[in-house]
Amino acid sequence: MTNLTFYGGAGEIGGNKILLEDGGAKVYLDFGQSFDFGEDYFYEWLQPRTVNGLECYFEFGMVPEVPKLYSEKELRFTKLPYEKPDIDDVFLTHHHSDHCGHLPFIDESIPVNMGHGTYRLLDVYRTLYPQFTSLGKHETLNLFKSGDVIPVKDLRFKPIHVEHSTPGAYGYVIGTPEGNIVFSGDFRMHGPMKHMTEEFIKEAAKSQPKVMLCEGTRMTPDPQKQYTEEQVYEKVKGIIEDAKGLVFTEFSMCNVDRFHSIFKATIESGRKMIVDTRFAYILENLRDKIDLPDPLTDENIKVYFRMCKSCEYLEKDYYKFERPYMENKITHDEIKMNPKDYVMFTGFNKLMELVYLQPEKADYIYSSSEHFLEGDENKQKRTVLENWLNHFGIQYHHAHCSGHASREDIENTIKKIKPDVLIPIHTQNPKEFEKIHENVIIPEKEGTIKI
Ligand SMILES: [Zn+2]
Ligand SMILES: [Zn+2]
Repeated sequence: MTNLTFYGGAGEIGGNKILLEDGGAKVYLDFGQSFDFGEDYFYEWLQPRTVNGLECYFEFGMVPEVPKLYSEKELRFTKLPYEKPDIDDVFLTHHHSDHCGHLPFIDESIPVNMGHGTYRLLDVYRTLYPQFTSLGKHETLNLFKSGDVIPVKDLRFKPIHVEHSTPGAYGYVIGTPEGNIVFSGDFRMHGPMKHMTEEFIKEAAKSQPKVMLCEGTRMTPDPQKQYTEEQVYEKVKGIIEDAKGLVFTEFSMCNVDRFHSIFKATIESGRKMIVDTRFAYILENLRDKIDLPDPLTDENIKVYFRMCKSCEYLEKDYYKFERPYMENKITHDEIKMNPKDYVMFTGFNKLMELVYLQPEKADYIYSSSEHFLEGDENKQKRTVLENWLNHFGIQYHHAHCSGHASREDIENTIKKIKPDVLIPIHTQNPKEFEKIHENVIIPEKEGTIKI
């Protein structure tokens, strides 16, 4: 008998937090934070205090009050007594916070398993953004690679890499005494690394699973148009080739595929790419694992240094991690001299640089998830961005494709894997899965499915 309890990831995109119990084994599949976490009770400066641990979160039912799971420190001000944990392991699919954001709450003694790439990204991000990224403390961190087999009591966990909007993403085939369980994690198959997802599908199909937990971010009733990473590259290249001035581009720094698309388009258009110091740090720290250029020596890269304290670009003005990149620095004055030579990585919070750059006839390519520019909650941000672009006469463009599989690709994936039972997760439209599989069980938040 297998029990699956959904503390997150049921009826919502993100927040995966799924307890798998089988025989004597108790394992969490991901331990993420929901995207709307805290929205109902916290606002701007109204925020819980870290020192109170889980107290505020339990008060509003934002984190499940599960015994034998959380650390003593986190439970200090709650009514839930600390007990030695009965969880064998946590297995992560990738580093996005909706899959691992609540790891800091769990007891240090629970072993956490993740891919080498996942760990590397978490480590880089917690150096760059210590206020936003915390892994928590864990006595045992097991790092795996695709294809490894990790036993937990009678269960065998086999992670297999998948393509997503970040490297270091995995799905799992989990062997149990009564059959196999497939867990998709987040995946896509319309980019340059689609062969990884194909490997996962092949392995999952071979296991003839009794259950598949499948993500359905894009399992919408009206399928959105599918753009491929190749099409993003072509569109970006066209925009850069037609550009008459500096080109700005905004995308997620961990989206390596997107970096490659834009970097390639930049070089082929005879320009150089300007990254900021944080991006340079990411490139440098991932390049032993992934094919990426060296921000210190690559002739097609310059590292932007904003003017700080002394206004003279002195080393002491910058954080320690930034200083090595001064060797390859470029400033707003240098860019202004030859704006057509560059494509510059930027973002909403870096718009201030436009005042110093004073761009003329520039273009702005937004190449990140549409989510951040849609909806009422982002209206003010959207207006501010528009105002900045209008003020400087900058032409706005949109070139993006999703990090998640299209409805059609999800359908094909399920048809190939052929699970006996299909459980939709990480989706707002679980019922859509009933149209493509005859035995769908829709999970409910904090509900248990017994198989
Ligand atoms: Zn996700
Ligand atoms: Zn993700």
